[in-house]
Amino acid sequence: MNITPMEAIFNVLNETALILQEELSCTYLEALAETGENLFHGEIVQEEISELNKKRLKKKYEEINLSSFTEEQIRKAYQLAILKGMKDNVQANHQMTPDTIGLVMSYLIKRFTEQIKTFSILDPAVGTGNLLMTIMNQLEDNVISAYGIEIDDILIKLAYIGANLQSQPVQLYNQDSLEHLFIDPVDVVVSDLPVGYYPNDSGASNYQLKSDKGHSYAHHLFIEQSINYTKPGGYLFFLIPNGLFESEEAPKLHKFLAEQVHIQGVIQLPLSIFKNPNAAKSILILQKKDDSVKAPKQVLIANLPTLSNQHAMETMLAKLDKWFRENKE
Ligand code: SAM
Repeated sequence: MNITPMEAIFNVLNETALILQEELSCTYLEALAETGENLFHGEIVQEEISELNKKRLKKKYEEINLSSFTEEQIRKAYQLAILKGMKDNVQANHQMTPDTIGLVMSYLIKRFTEQIKTFSILDPAVGTGNLLMTIMNQLEDNVISAYGIEIDDILIKLAYIGANLQSQPVQLYNQDSLEHLFIDPVDVVVSDLPVGYYPNDSGASNYQLKSDKGHSYAHHLFIEQSINYTKPGGYLFFLIPNGLFESEEAPKLHKFLAEQVHIQGVIQLPLSIFKNPNAAKSILILQKKDDSVKAPKQVLIANLPTLSNQHAMETMLAKLDKWFRENKE
């Protein structure tokens, strides 16, 4: 039976992760990171494995030669294995960003950065790295340096292994992104924002977008922090909940954005790609103010059709082209 390259890689990742999960008594995601480490180093790095399982693992690893696959084949297989591991017990806010959104983000970043061609990029909520890797694989010739920050140690390990397997150079930091960051401002920020309250009130007090009472919204603080670490004239692409501008904190957010950035556009993603329509999201595109940049004449407001609706997609792309001609050239 013929299997696709992605299935061949997934089978090896999955079967070896299951062996390691049992042997190390850990979760599937932890075992996936361990097996990724083995594949990357070309040897079994866990010392405590029984001889029998070492043999089984080696035999499985020999079934594939990673260098014969494309980065996207590796990313998709790895993504599938992560999805399997996340099925059981991952909170909504830690979910990996799916392909469809990564591809739309990549397209938008490419269009908005046409003038600068090469850029540095930061994802301050990098999670498993799937969103950042999708963008880096699509825009390989354009990204000159990439940074990812993540508070969860398993997720950042998965991001680190994924970057290694896909041979993508990324600097990763395991820390709270709302504390001081050890990076210089970048040209592009991209983030699937964690939505909810930030528990650290004293940390939040350093932000203009802190709440006047109770915990602050983490997603508002993330927007402020991302702007802090963007070069003047740089772009920010956020995946936001559709109701971002409707909360009681929204007036403060509006005022802050009006001072700091030019809002470029809000693109609502098709409801059909979200399991729960109440959790549907949009892409918010911002440009940090600078003397050399002007506000667009009109903010791009669009509803993205389902990707399978070719006619609606062509109409949407024509609308985007028109907007770029009128506002960015
Ligand atoms: N784009 C990611 C991917 O493809 O896997 C998914 C991002 S997920 C929606 C949001 C991420 O923000 C989660 O991984 C969560 O652990 C992280 N996060 C939440 N609060 C954080 C904080 N204060 N500092 C750094 N990361 C944080």
